[in-house]
Amino acid sequence: MTTRLLCPACGNTAPLTTTQFRCACSEPLDAVHEPVAVSRQLFDSRLGRTEFPYDSGVWRFKELIHPDLPMDKVLARPEGNTPLFRAGKVGTWAGVANLRLKHEGYNPTGSFKDRGMTVAASHGYANGANAFVCASTGNTSAAVASYGALAGIPAVILIPENATAMGKISQALAYGARTVQIRGNFDDAMSLVQDAASELGLYLLNSLNPFRVQGQKTIMFELLQQLNWQAPDWIVFPAGNLGNTSAFGLALTEAHALGLIDRVPRMLAVQAAGSAPFSASFAEDFRSIEAVSPQTVATAIRIGNPVSFNRAVRSIRATNGVVTHVSDTDILEAKAIVDAFGIGAEPASCASVAGVRQMVDRGLIAPGDSVVALLTGHLLKDPDTTLRYHQGEYGGGHCNPPVTIDATLEALAAVVSGSENPQ
Ligand SMILES: *Cc1c(COP(=O)(O)O)cnc(C)c1O
Repeated sequence: MTTRLLCPACGNTAPLTTTQFRCACSEPLDAVHEPVAVSRQLFDSRLGRTEFPYDSGVWRFKELIHPDLPMDKVLARPEGNTPLFRAGKVGTWAGVANLRLKHEGYNPTGSFKDRGMTVAASHGYANGANAFVCASTGNTSAAVASYGALAGIPAVILIPENATAMGKISQALAYGARTVQIRGNFDDAMSLVQDAASELGLYLLNSLNPFRVQGQKTIMFELLQQLNWQAPDWIVFPAGNLGNTSAFGLALTEAHALGLIDRVPRMLAVQAAGSAPFSASFAEDFRSIEAVSPQTVATAIRIGNPVSFNRAVRSIRATNGVVTHVSDTDILEAKAIVDAFGIGAEPASCASVAGVRQMVDRGLIAPGDSVVALLTGHLLKDPDTTLRYHQGEYGGGHCNPPVTIDATLEALAAVVSGSENPQ
């Protein structure tokens, strides 16, 4: 075996087959691999390949995420291979000419969660899991439901009642997961699911599962490969439960140590102002973290008590990173700009673009820096919020409401010539 599960706090190790992902000291366990010899050439030689599993943008990097997993246990759709868009007008709005958008909404279930899920679900499948379980703000549940369907393993998902976007619940139901709405918020669901995993023997697929974090590292590996292994100055992304923050710091420091890149880019993690315990902690040099009662329109990052706090702190420190927060108004304006560019993303995703603009205003990001902002989920995940925005419910300045007319040429001509005032 080349992989161990290791407690970063007390140094204890656990067998690779454990399904208890917290150490006895309560810290989440990390998956740690023995160093392997890999190269840009190895990964480049797999680009564009059509055979399983290297057609996946996750499993292309198998040596760096789960080297020991037997190939016949890999559950892949395939995932990843997501586009890196030049940001055009979005860059102009944010104040950075060289801005790109890595759109993880182009994964099989419409969010980056598939990246971690393919690895963690495969690991569970290889170790005989008989049911999958997760707590979720929505996208994790869609991914768990989908990979459960692929594996033929029943999935149970716990979501906060009335706080999950419509597209995501639809997916969980459609893919056949047992969908349980909890009277409470995500943090309540998260604490319940940990008890359920150990007491009811369900295999946990939250980002507490170290193989989720391993899979999410490939967002960075793939991005660096798309940039021809030239590291950008900044990588900017939304932060909720801090799985990505943790994974990206690991990926970037590993890529540097392996010689895949010659410098480590800085990370900027962006929270929603109403759900920003990590940002508040950063402002005090991470001396402590205080859970908050989470509020934000960006339901995917509506989390008040992030599970991967300590991991994420290590990642921010290792990349000379920064944590900030942006208001819902700023998130929705950024979303309107990203959407109007013809790409679009769900609200949480657009916290990254709002964060770029904020940091250009503050002078931390220079207009000439190369910046990659991550879009974490697809526009169609949360059609409700988009419709409400364009109907003026949030008072934003970029509304594009529909107009209703009689079926006459005159009425249509009036709309086309712009003389019809939308209501
Ligand atoms: C899960 C999710 C996030 C938050 O990611 P963390 O790794 O929990 O910080 C952000 N955006 C979207 C769309 C998500 O689904």
